[in-house]
Amino acid sequence: MQREVFRIAIDGPAGAGKSTIARLLAKKLGFVYIDTGAMYRAIALFCLRKGIPVADEEAVSQTVADAHITISYQDGQQQVWLNGEDVSGLIRTEKVGNTASAVSAYPAVRAHLLDLQRSLAASASVIMDGRDIGTCVLPEAETKVFLTASSAVRAMRRYKELKEKGEMCNLQEIEQDIIERDQRDMNRAAAPLRQAEDAVLVDGSEMDIDQVVSAIIQVAVSHGLKVESGVWR
Ligand code: C5P
Repeated sequence: MQREVFRIAIDGPAGAGKSTIARLLAKKLGFVYIDTGAMYRAIALFCLRKGIPVADEEAVSQTVADAHITISYQDGQQQVWLNGEDVSGLIRTEKVGNTASAVSAYPAVRAHLLDLQRSLAASASVIMDGRDIGTCVLPEAETKVFLTASSAVRAMRRYKELKEKGEMCNLQEIEQDIIERDQRDMNRAAAPLRQAEDAVLVDGSEMDIDQVVSAIIQVAVSHGLKVESGVWR
């Protein structure tokens, strides 16, 4: 029977370029891009607004039930909605990112988002990025990539990004933050960040964006992705 959808899972540590690469791949292949980190960020924003201490697992786990997260697309860009409010821009701060890393360790938070993530990937060809896509959300994905880069390279990229946005930042602090976030993501009990056994490792430290995109397309082609009459499937 012919496969109906092709799913590419991209996992890896913070700042490895997953979202940039996934967005470009989605555009190139005509697939839907699903950014799961944005969903955890929306939950983090909800907790911050409610003043819930992130270290209080019980309080966070109870609160998460009231956070209704939905996703829509505008010109191919994913928008994240929190209880009917578009929070896509508000979730892009370091504070929200660090809070997301803390609350995403709680099983109740992960369970709350799992159905949404799986249902988005059920009927369309997708590129989904996160920390546990290949290991947990889409274990049957046709292609799994673990995208990484050295912490120094990742910190420098984030530093430049923040500078461009006009935000005050310090390179050493950013690298320290990145290392701490990775440690939390890798060492938690619930769906930790790790490379799936059948994932292909791509280290982008010495590669530019186009090289990483091409490398991932090559991997997917070796797993059966093909282009027919201009359509990738
Ligand atoms: O990728 P991004 O930085 O937006 O993700 C924010 C945080 O959400 C990560 O540091 C990670 O702790 C958490 N996350 C996760 N599982 C995913 C995606 C993100 O735990 N699939």
